[in-house]
Amino acid sequence: MLLACSIGAAALADVTDDNKAEALHELPILVDAGISTHHIHGPDPILETQVDFVAELLRFAKPVRVMHEVEEGPLYDPETQEIWMPGSFADNIEAYFDDEDAPVADIYFHTLMHEIGHVLFEQYDLPMLAREEDAADALASVLLLEYVDDGARMALNAAEMFGLESEEYEWFDQSDFWSEHSLEIQRYYTTLCHVYGSDSKAHKNLVNDDYGLSQTRAEACEVEYERIRDGWLGVLEPYLKR
Ligand SMILES: [Zn+2]
Repeated sequence: MLLACSIGAAALADVTDDNKAEALHELPILVDAGISTHHIHGPDPILETQVDFVAELLRFAKPVRVMHEVEEGPLYDPETQEIWMPGSFADNIEAYFDDEDAPVADIYFHTLMHEIGHVLFEQYDLPMLAREEDAADALASVLLLEYVDDGARMALNAAEMFGLESEEYEWFDQSDFWSEHSLEIQRYYTTLCHVYGSDSKAHKNLVNDDYGLSQTRAEACEVEYERIRDGWLGVLEPYLKR
């Protein structure tokens, strides 16, 4: 059945090793069920382009719909294969940045990539070697930094949002520690580390005492980024279109 799909036939044609070819036969990976936006009242101009980008980059085993006329989110619902990106998220971003020119599109893209991480884990039953939320953040970094022009700026704006969110805390609750997510301030520094690690020369300004990376952390970032990049791109190889 899978071989009937032209993408599948092309991918298999390159495989010379018999065992590998056999393994590929078993995986439901060569069909691309696609990702699209869904709207009733009108398209969301930011999401349309970003979802098209994802559709051209990745194959999905089941059709994914990105909804924006929803009340909650951002989230991914594995039951319905829907990603919810509510309009209120844009308002939220503008409120945090306290600026009409808040980098809404950049943060949307990072968040969409993060939710795509959850989709890929679920659809392809990917190996889980650490917390899924951290891995989804790492995927967002890798896809932005490796595939998107100005991806570093987008990741840094997403980090800035984490930083602004963390400023809301006067003290921590138990729930902050049992949350599935790392603390916002940790997500801030980790994203900075990914960007710095992806090109330490271009981003040397990220190492500083003013909410930047410490010299000690920065020294590990190049290897850390290389490992998450190679890890994610390795795992995703059968599902990446380019
Ligand atoms: Zn998540």
